Amino acid sequence: MSEGPSTLRIGLLLPDVMGTYGDGGNALVLRGRARLRGLDAEIVPITLDTDVPASCDVYTLGGGEDVAQTLATRHLARHRGLHAAVDRSVPVLAVCAGLQVLGHTYTGSDGTTVEGLGLLDVTTTPRLTRAIGELLVEPTAEGLTERLTGFENHRGATTLGTDARPLGRVLHGVGNGTGDGREGMVHGSIIATYLHGPVLARNPQLADLLLSRAMGLTDPSQLSPLNLESVALLRRERLAHKPSHAPRRRWWSRLNRQA
Ligand code: GLN
Repeated sequence: MSEGPSTLRIGLLLPDVMGTYGDGGNALVLRGRARLRGLDAEIVPITLDTDVPASCDVYTLGGGEDVAQTLATRHLARHRGLHAAVDRSVPVLAVCAGLQVLGHTYTGSDGTTVEGLGLLDVTTTPRLTRAIGELLVEPTAEGLTERLTGFENHRGATTLGTDARPLGRVLHGVGNGTGDGREGMVHGSIIATYLHGPVLARNPQLADLLLSRAMGLTDPSQLSPLNLESVALLRRERLAHKPSHAPRRRWWSRLNRQA
């Protein structure tokens, strides 16, 4: 950890524009799971009004609408603290629009292509329809064995380059949306996914993987176990839920046009 030996600093990137889907909860989960283990932890909100510090121990970036993600992209391209942190292999969690921003380019629903930060070897183009619904994933990335649950709401379809490996295989839902059944991606210290939820609330194994890396541990098993009944209940309920993607309705096609 960078700021003194006992305070874990969690960089919450651009909650002012990338907070639409509740992904700010991922930072709360990391802070909570650190504090429950007796570790001091704080959330560092990084907004459009602030510089981007390179000194955090972990960063989270959530989803947002096409226009919001373009504002986020511009800010992160101008203030390059995240680039410096990634160069040092600091762990980053990027969700949905967040992952699109970190990629090479993304094309929004209006056909405009925006240059991303190029930290993640992916490109995103729009699907014909939005993917909306529960998403269930069998993880394939190192360090994860438990199924990942969440919900997705995106128009973008993301293609992986050779430096990115998939996070997992879709069991139900759409995921990356390129027809190959892949979901999310891992590239260096970045873990990226289309799962909202917030994903770390629904998937404690993923939360502890990020937390252990943020703390500089070699393995999450070095963290003391947490048996949280509320987390177990949520997980049981979500895994038992029969997911269904919503049927097409008239409002649905309006939503597609809005992105
Ligand atoms: N605007 C992007 C898309 O529709 C991301 C949406 C999101 O973050 N949920 O693909």
